[in-house]
Amino acid sequence: MKPFIAAAIALLAFVTVSRAADNAAAPAPTNRPNILVIVSDDQGYADAGFQGSKDIVTPNLDRLAASGLHCTNGYVTHPYCSPSRAGLLTGRYQGRFGHERNPRYLPESHEEGLPLTETLFPSLLANSGYTTGWIGKWHLGAAPEFHPGKRGFTETFGFIGGGHHYQDWKVKPGTEYNVPILRNGKPVEVKQHLTLTFGHEAADFVTRHKDQPWFLYLAFNAPHTPHEPTAERLAKFANIKDKKRREYAAQISLLDDAVGETLAALHASGQDQRTLIFFFSDNGGPEGPPSNFPLRGHKGEVYEGGMHVPFLISWPGHIPAGKDYTPAVSSLDVAATALALAGVAAPTDKPLDGVNLIPFLTGENSASPHDKLFWRESHSLSAALRAGDSKFVRHGEKPAELYDLKNDLGEKTDLSTADPKKVAALQADVDAWMKPLPKHLAFLGLGGSADKPWPDDAGKEP
Ligand code: CA
Repeated sequence: MKPFIAAAIALLAFVTVSRAADNAAAPAPTNRPNILVIVSDDQGYADAGFQGSKDIVTPNLDRLAASGLHCTNGYVTHPYCSPSRAGLLTGRYQGRFGHERNPRYLPESHEEGLPLTETLFPSLLANSGYTTGWIGKWHLGAAPEFHPGKRGFTETFGFIGGGHHYQDWKVKPGTEYNVPILRNGKPVEVKQHLTLTFGHEAADFVTRHKDQPWFLYLAFNAPHTPHEPTAERLAKFANIKDKKRREYAAQISLLDDAVGETLAALHASGQDQRTLIFFFSDNGGPEGPPSNFPLRGHKGEVYEGGMHVPFLISWPGHIPAGKDYTPAVSSLDVAATALALAGVAAPTDKPLDGVNLIPFLTGENSASPHDKLFWRESHSLSAALRAGDSKFVRHGEKPAELYDLKNDLGEKTDLSTADPKKVAALQADVDAWMKPLPKHLAFLGLGGSADKPWPDDAGKEP
């Protein structure tokens, strides 16, 4: 062996040992679990069997719920699509890097995307030997440098924009909802309903990689509009009289099938016990057919209906099954949890805002994972804070509101007049959290100006 090769191997061994010492609690690399993150899109809080829905049946999601913990206070970081996904994949409040609106679908723009200054945690998993897959919707920038294959995913399948037709579309490159579906950057023909296609791809991914640790971000666009279910599935929901609700329900049912196919593939390949699964919606249901009952508000708002979502965590044999977990958890926690289980050090230059949830979920740590969770929605200048059971809301230009979520999950009784001291204290917390954040995307050069910070066709969901 040549001396420099021997020296390189010795150095590698030293680095490996040092890493292990830094992560004393981390599992040995051979025991590293798979991590599957399933995200639905614009699913109403009430719209799954495990959430108590009476008209939308989701047997596969219900089975997933029964196999793990139903997080009854599960949150995402933003009340609409792209910022929420940016918070999930960086493990940091997206306001820290100004990604607070949906990027416009502009493949030629080098500004409309999740800033390249940020690290997506799947890239750290890939560097440590995980196979990392993305299937579904991207919505984090259309120019090539923003694509998932450039941001840490070793296998990719899906569409780059914020939404897509589900069936019978005519490919029109450049039009967001009609772009080609890409496998590893190359267009492919899709022969079946898009949601079912994503399920087939996910089942194939987990089966092919059964002998190595993997991470899969299965990012459905269902049940986001346009609701284009199959005729067969629509017929199964004939009991729902409202046409729009019927189409939406059928779309969720197809999503449930796709999840079921993925879970069946995990089971058939013997990976149930070594796969940690998260499931949640990227934001609350919008106005229209979805139901966020009993929450107030909807997608786009910082009332609970905007970002308090259906949320499951399953890892058979490692965390409890068939129980509720009531302390607040966040999509921010996915990154910290995944990195800890993979034995990968979290970045120190840009610290994660989430925590490794496993000790909390097992009961090893009986404290709540978060003292405080914050939200900011810059388009409407809204902000919110959950501290324990107290919820502070500043909805647009309206005066601050205060709610007790333990007794008033529906945010019906504003306590701000009764407890102005608490309002002032929570307002101070929100101000302190926001102080280091860039004021608007405009200040990062991402369109608009200080006077008019939002491009006319951006910000709101398409
Ligand atoms: Ca969404």
